[in-house]
Amino acid sequence: MDHPVTPPRERLRAAYLRDESEALDALIGEARLPAESARRVQDRARALVEEVRTRQKAVAGMQSFLREYDLSSQEGVLLMCVAEALLRIPDAATADKLIRDKLSQGDWEKHVGRNNSLLVNAGTWGMMLTGKLVSLDAVSAGNAGAWLARLAARAGEPVVRVALRQGMKLMAEQFVMGRTIGDALERSRSAEHAAYRHSYDMLGEAAFTAADAERYLAAYEHAIDAIAAHRVEGASSVFQRPGISIKLSALHPRYEYAQRSRVMDELVPRVQSLAERARRGDVGVTLDAEEADRLELSLDIFERVFASSALQGWEGFGLAVQAYQKRSPFAIEWLAEIARRERRRIMVRLVKGAYWDSEVKRAQMQGLSGYPVYTRKANTDVSYLACARRIIEAPDAFYGQFATHNAHTVATVIERMPAGQPFEFQRLHGMGDDLYDEVTRMGHACRVYAPVGSHEDLLPYLVRRLLENGANTSFVNRIADSTITVESVVADPVAAAQSNSTAANPKIPLPRDLYGERVNSAGFAFADDAASSPVLAKIASFASRPLGRVADATPADAHRALEIASKALVPPAPERAGILERAADLIEANGARFMALLAREAGKTLPDGLGEVREAADFCRYYAMLARRHFAQPEELTGPTGESNRLELAGRGPFVCISPWNFPLAIFVGQVSAAFAAGNPVVAKPAEQTPLIASAAVEILLEAGVPRDALALVPGPGETAGAALVSDLRTAGVAFTGSTATARAINRALAARDGPIVPFIAETGGLNAMLVDSSALPEQVVADVIASAFNSAGQRCSALRILCLQEEIAPRVIDILAGATAELRLGDPLRLDTDVGPVIDAEALHILEEHAAKMDREAKLICRATLPDALKGGLFFAPRAYEIASLDAIDREIFGPILHVVRFAAADLAAVVDAVNAKGYGLTMGVHSRIEDTVEMVRAKARAGNLYVNRNMIGATVGVQPFGGEGLSGTGPKAGGPHYLFRFANERTFTVNTAAAGGNASLIAGSE
Ligand SMILES: Cc1cc2nc3c(=O)[nH]c(=O)nc-3n(C[C@H](O)[C@H](O)[C@H](O)COP(=O)(O)OP(=O)(O)OC[C@H]3O[C@@H](n4cnc5c(N)ncnc54)[C@H](O)[C@@H]3O)c2cc1C
Repeated sequence: MDHPVTPPRERLRAAYLRDESEALDALIGEARLPAESARRVQDRARALVEEVRTRQKAVAGMQSFLREYDLSSQEGVLLMCVAEALLRIPDAATADKLIRDKLSQGDWEKHVGRNNSLLVNAGTWGMMLTGKLVSLDAVSAGNAGAWLARLAARAGEPVVRVALRQGMKLMAEQFVMGRTIGDALERSRSAEHAAYRHSYDMLGEAAFTAADAERYLAAYEHAIDAIAAHRVEGASSVFQRPGISIKLSALHPRYEYAQRSRVMDELVPRVQSLAERARRGDVGVTLDAEEADRLELSLDIFERVFASSALQGWEGFGLAVQAYQKRSPFAIEWLAEIARRERRRIMVRLVKGAYWDSEVKRAQMQGLSGYPVYTRKANTDVSYLACARRIIEAPDAFYGQFATHNAHTVATVIERMPAGQPFEFQRLHGMGDDLYDEVTRMGHACRVYAPVGSHEDLLPYLVRRLLENGANTSFVNRIADSTITVESVVADPVAAAQSNSTAANPKIPLPRDLYGERVNSAGFAFADDAASSPVLAKIASFASRPLGRVADATPADAHRALEIASKALVPPAPERAGILERAADLIEANGARFMALLAREAGKTLPDGLGEVREAADFCRYYAMLARRHFAQPEELTGPTGESNRLELAGRGPFVCISPWNFPLAIFVGQVSAAFAAGNPVVAKPAEQTPLIASAAVEILLEAGVPRDALALVPGPGETAGAALVSDLRTAGVAFTGSTATARAINRALAARDGPIVPFIAETGGLNAMLVDSSALPEQVVADVIASAFNSAGQRCSALRILCLQEEIAPRVIDILAGATAELRLGDPLRLDTDVGPVIDAEALHILEEHAAKMDREAKLICRATLPDALKGGLFFAPRAYEIASLDAIDREIFGPILHVVRFAAADLAAVVDAVNAKGYGLTMGVHSRIEDTVEMVRAKARAGNLYVNRNMIGATVGVQPFGGEGLSGTGPKAGGPHYLFRFANERTFTVNTAAAGGNASLIAGSE
């Protein structure tokens, strides 16, 4: 960090993943009201809810439509899927497919008559759609289900598509104030908005490219000027005037913790210039709150701009704080300190938070020690109430802006607020209208968060709003649901939280308990300073030590290793499992050492290194679990009476494990731990390029208790040490990961032996493709393509090599891909801000350069990352993409960051899958499509071991996505899968004639 850290900031840091019960305990007292006040809050909240419910009965419209199709119904989910995709699909064929796909699945009939809404019943969508279609179908009022069913049957007709698109636009408009800032400002003058203030939000989410960021910057500038010019009668202070909300992620393509210094250099001036512009027009600016791992970065940016001399004396710069984050009370504490230091108030918008589901998923995937957010709704509410109190009680530091649609929350803020203290409520456009019509009548100010933009820009925002409206925990959903009593809608969250037997939600296990029977590997977020700083410091200390020296094993050494291994005593299965679990713990405990070694010996970036450490630990624990499950006890088999039959699994003898340099820790440990778990002594030959990592791993396995004789490390070239191991008749099996060519050579060598025929498990290369149709979201596609093709410098066997784009969305995807590739940073893998490290060696670099030269001649260069001058002459290769005319242009794996892009016509999708299959490889494949039929077609046709839908196609997780291919890509069984260990074992049956001693006593005894 480049600035001193104050105590509140220290507390904030320490609370990233705070234990939920500790966090809650600390807040309950602050959130609780005295009994008399709590009663008044209940009365006020109850009155508000009753009033809203009365009004809702009278009105019909989009709200009731959203309520009818909420997310607890399949139809609600289907409609959300249509809403998310339909408006952005450029071509009719794909739009029609999406419509057919989604509308044919739901049971629309059941929604008929359940709701009084005009919109739901008088021809459900008929109201939203063109009158043309309604009259065309002559839908009788009250028969919406039939209407939708008919619509589905007619999907493919242009009129249906047009009508649905219009319906979706109407749905979108529910949440958008205007297409342009001019429209939105104009609309703010209408009667429905007269009682409100506004904060305009320029739609569009994260920028992926520098051009996107420029575009958003210009949009914000234009909007600030327009808002400044917009006169609002009686609005004398910046608190009363309209303002603007800004998403930092829209202003910089790399707004990430790892890019902190670049972000501070480049993003701060942008925010600064916007804030100064806003000050000139007295337009209040609020920075939106985004993902948890961006919180600290946003606070740093906020502080820098807030404290700048240009903003001195102006109180129009503020930010949003998310109460669902455990760090929120400390954020408020810290902000108060900044405000007091600068001697002016900060506008703080207190929200609960809009990314809860993705925060929970990310924490699970990263194996964090806890969640950055609360896991019970009541806890989030308690946190909000405690934070609100802190804001209210610091009027010298804050102008409080309480953003909520929850009547109980509103009533509590009113109760706590001293008379005459300035503050405001906030609501989202299209939500909470009824509630706030009442609250503003009571004399309280309310501002509407007013999104501005076109329909395509709206989609991610729309999905968040649909989730919020549709979730059954959400207040807007509950207030509208007349089957829920008013009492329960306004229940006091403090009492609810206290009455829970556990503070944390037992339905959401901690990330480490995700897998039940085995512990998930421990990870950390680099943005979690308290967790990552000590690791980074350790890595730095390892990085300055000498790396190590290797003496290659000779063929004689290899034979000697097998000699020893063949006599080794391997402990029984339960003991082996215990050893492997200890090894997993030790690998994690040595994580920093491995990450340093992985960066220095194999060029792995720190996130890649962390991924490997976790995968290695997962392998150990997963195979330990399988060893206990299958190898500890024989399996009883059913047979005729008078006989007992058992099947048991036993080790085969010395297993040779030959691993690659691209996962020098994870695959090395994976092979060795599997062979050992199955009861075999192991002789391991690591790749020539990465023996030191293997040696460190062996040390750990021995320390964990693997008997010395049962594990030998034989570093050296494949042609000598490897060949000696494979040809030795004592070798009882070979597990290999590497190139198809080497696999063939090993296979031949094994075949040439005269001894027993032994198992050969090979995982080899792939020519992996991703298929993208026009229903996919281009930004999401590009994020996944960049990760799949360029992560680890493209040196993963799972890496994406061929991106197949439906021609209608190809230009947009290629455009973003080019911009996003330009943002990649090559460099020292020990630096956290490095995206792409070096390739493994000069030979690999040469092959890549040769292929690139060929592509330069034969294909069209789409983009290339910048190779800084300082890295030239080293082993760096700039990631790039080429457009090729057809799939014929490539038929072998090029192991590095070169992506090939090919376009296809919508009608040819199935043929593209066939063509990819025809290459003969079968490792990974990706699909991006919102159409289930399309995904299913690809699934049925694809010959690939791992198929990924709407995500990246790398980073298979042990036990979750067992990894391995077919065809030219490998023999199976899959590593990290339930069938893997069997291939390492002998199977033996044991049959005893229990009647041999004269008769079948047990049959006779138990016959009646
Ligand atoms: C003016 C305005 C501006 C906003 N700006 C932002 C912003 O910058 N950043 C942002 O993230 N959001 C922002 N929001 C969105 C806001 O987070 C949601 O609208 C808000 O959470 C809804 O809160 P509520 O009090 O209306 O609803 P409630 O229904 O009372 O609360 C919903 C909250 O509970 C949380 N929740 C649901 N289930 C659980 C659970 N099991 N465990 C823990 N928590 C749970 C939800 O995630 C949500 O945060 C803004 C909202 C408004 C009104």
